[in-house]
Amino acid sequence: WDKEHVIHPMAPVGADPTIVMVGGDGVYIIDSDGKQYLDGASQLTCINLGYGQKEIAEAVTEQMKQLAYSHSFFGNCNTANIECSRKLAQLTPSGLNHFFYTLGGSGSIDTSFRIARTYWKNQNKGGKFKIISLHNSYHGVNFGAVSATALRYGQFAAGVQPVVPGFLRIPSYYCYRCAFDLKYPDCDMYCAKFLAYTIKQEGPDSVAAFVAEPVHGTAGSIVPPPEYWPMVRKICTENDVLLIADEVMTGFGRTGKMFAVEHWDVVPDMMALAKGLTSAYLPFGAVAISDAVVEGLKGAPVFGFTYSGHPVCSAAATKVMEIYERDNVVENTAEMGSYALNRLKAECESMPCIGEVAGLGLMIGVEIVTDKANHTPFPIEQNVPMEIGNEARDKGLLVRASDRLAFTPPLIVTKDEIDKALDILVPILAAVKPRSTSAVA
Ligand code: PLP
Repeated sequence: WDKEHVIHPMAPVGADPTIVMVGGDGVYIIDSDGKQYLDGASQLTCINLGYGQKEIAEAVTEQMKQLAYSHSFFGNCNTANIECSRKLAQLTPSGLNHFFYTLGGSGSIDTSFRIARTYWKNQNKGGKFKIISLHNSYHGVNFGAVSATALRYGQFAAGVQPVVPGFLRIPSYYCYRCAFDLKYPDCDMYCAKFLAYTIKQEGPDSVAAFVAEPVHGTAGSIVPPPEYWPMVRKICTENDVLLIADEVMTGFGRTGKMFAVEHWDVVPDMMALAKGLTSAYLPFGAVAISDAVVEGLKGAPVFGFTYSGHPVCSAAATKVMEIYERDNVVENTAEMGSYALNRLKAECESMPCIGEVAGLGLMIGVEIVTDKANHTPFPIEQNVPMEIGNEARDKGLLVRASDRLAFTPPLIVTKDEIDKALDILVPILAAVKPRSTSAVA
């Protein structure tokens, strides 16, 4: 039936279905043959609290019975969403006290762009409309989000070109593959300075916002040097450009802080949120907006989704945020993240095909290369990362396999579970050998 009826995201149309999932408990997900997998990817790095959290199910059920839905248009409110907003304001960095609700990450990103443009128009600066983003970024699939996304940009946007005008993509903080061929720290943070250069070239009067993931997620957990975020914050402030942190994947504890920008004491003007907001128990997202931006938006026309501020999703989010705090989930993430990173570094960095192991919290990336000296990835046709991912899956571990393999288990993971995962993964990585690129037809 799946093959007959379902079009799968991110798979060639017509491709065969793979696994049918039927259950889950803790860090384990179970397929229709009863096989159990340790979910080292948290699915799409979203099921932060793992599977089978009954308290969330109960909060959602209660809310459905009490008030399944009411819209948020024209100033209408519901108590579940008000509570969720209050809790969010307690958790987000100081000054980010206002929330616009969406249904997921792509919607949060598009909404942040919309707000940025509306904000400048409201200040009679409608010429400030350009959005600058980073190579290697993934921001989602709506038209604004795909226009800012620059992860294999040509391939990703190919099917929907032309994308939205007014978007610019500049090199990122990916030190292992520096677009400027420089080495940190001698580079003097040229990638951050390049943002200032680009704004100057375009004219600050034409730039609305700069958007970036605090740590690249889909590209494989790429962490910037510590100077990066403070520098881009300063550049944006000096040039009257809004700073949007895409915390869709990094938010809600994933990097060992509640929000990743806290690692560098940076407060953006907006933060796009989703995934961990409900720990993926329901689709939900939000844009956190600063007091200053809201002040500048006063009187401006706004828009909305039918499901903005949905009470049932709000009830799920409030319960999830309570659990993050009550169970010290963020602290566990920092501790388990360092344990996993140290073990992977110690056991894998000397392997012939492992270029580097790096990460922050439970966002860890392992660079798979065929030529370590030159940082050369395997040719795409050889499907090496896919083979690694498939072998791990057959042995009971799910990881996100690309040239930079990502290990991002649920944030409730224990040391024993990390050991179990790495006992599967490390020997698979050890067996990867450089291959001749000429062997490919
Ligand atoms: N932004 C980031 C950083 C993401 O990782 C994702 C999804 O992976 C998105 C935006 C898009 O979110 P969604 O798939 O919920 O639309």
